[in-house]
Amino acid sequence: MLDKKFDLGFFPTPLQKLKNLTDKFEDYNLYIKRDDHTGLASGGNKTRKLEYLIQKAIDEGCDSVITAGAQQSNHCRQTAAACSIAGLQCHLLLGGDEPKVFDGNLLLSSILGATIHFTGDNRKGEDKEILKAKLEKEGRKCFVIPYGGSNLTGALGFVNAVKELKEQLEQQKLDIDYIFFASSSGGMQAGLTLGKELYGLSSELIPINIDKDETNGLSLEEVVYDIVKEGEEKLQVNTNLNLSDISLNRAYDKDGYGVVTNNEREAINELARTEGILLDPVYTGRAFYGMLDVLRQKNILKGANVLFWNTGGLPAVFKYAEELN
Ligand SMILES: *Cc1c(COP(=O)(O)O)cnc(C)c1O
Repeated sequence: MLDKKFDLGFFPTPLQKLKNLTDKFEDYNLYIKRDDHTGLASGGNKTRKLEYLIQKAIDEGCDSVITAGAQQSNHCRQTAAACSIAGLQCHLLLGGDEPKVFDGNLLLSSILGATIHFTGDNRKGEDKEILKAKLEKEGRKCFVIPYGGSNLTGALGFVNAVKELKEQLEQQKLDIDYIFFASSSGGMQAGLTLGKELYGLSSELIPINIDKDETNGLSLEEVVYDIVKEGEEKLQVNTNLNLSDISLNRAYDKDGYGVVTNNEREAINELARTEGILLDPVYTGRAFYGMLDVLRQKNILKGANVLFWNTGGLPAVFKYAEELN
């Protein structure tokens, strides 16, 4: 039913119990899904989307890929790696000015052979059609991947991820009541929403919003909703969701995208020191803090099984060394 995909990672990613952290939160059983171990050039959730996106680029006969993000974009780093594997040229449009020294994800994207274009204030791919026209004049055939890989094709990676999770839960004879994750460009949330319906997963999704800004004039709820509605037709499912039903916890985004505060620092240190698992300062650190806060306030059912979906992002830790010291 789903499209064909191009293998880029190691799946299923592990599903583990957080034993030490569960001891600290007596009312809850805590689990983690390790998409930080998808295996593509240090892993992350974009690997799942790229398996469908890269296949589509190949099917359309493209020889070049254009995508966009922040300089520390995990999506861009994984896209660069995927292009290396698939033999495609990779062009990245990254917000801000060229720094003197490349570090974190930017360094990795460069090592992975991507051509990097610095786009100043246009940090969400506003310049991609201009670049596409320029490259096509030079005879290239370009496949444009939207900001964060978040369209229906990319979201299929997370529809498929629900199938993977369901199989693991059946094997482990486990039910998950709540799934916490970082939501930012919307593809993961849309895919999980569709997958929940398609495969009958009963867990409630609790997406933690990361970036309070809109993307190309749309709120994150609107982006998720549009992908879900398009996906309903393709997958022949009906979620019965209206725009106002798209859930998004916006309680932890007020400092802005990529700003590291005591919250992120506390969450990163907590998981590292109880479980030896590393989070990132932009996405998973913020989302994990949100989950800890909800657990402390006992805002979800007592005795619940709670899953944190670790979406990766480790390379950015090195860029944020000063804030994390
Ligand atoms: C991109 C990303 C997310 C958010 O996924 P979206 O599909 O963009 O909402 C979460 N965590 C990390 C580490 C990411 O790179």
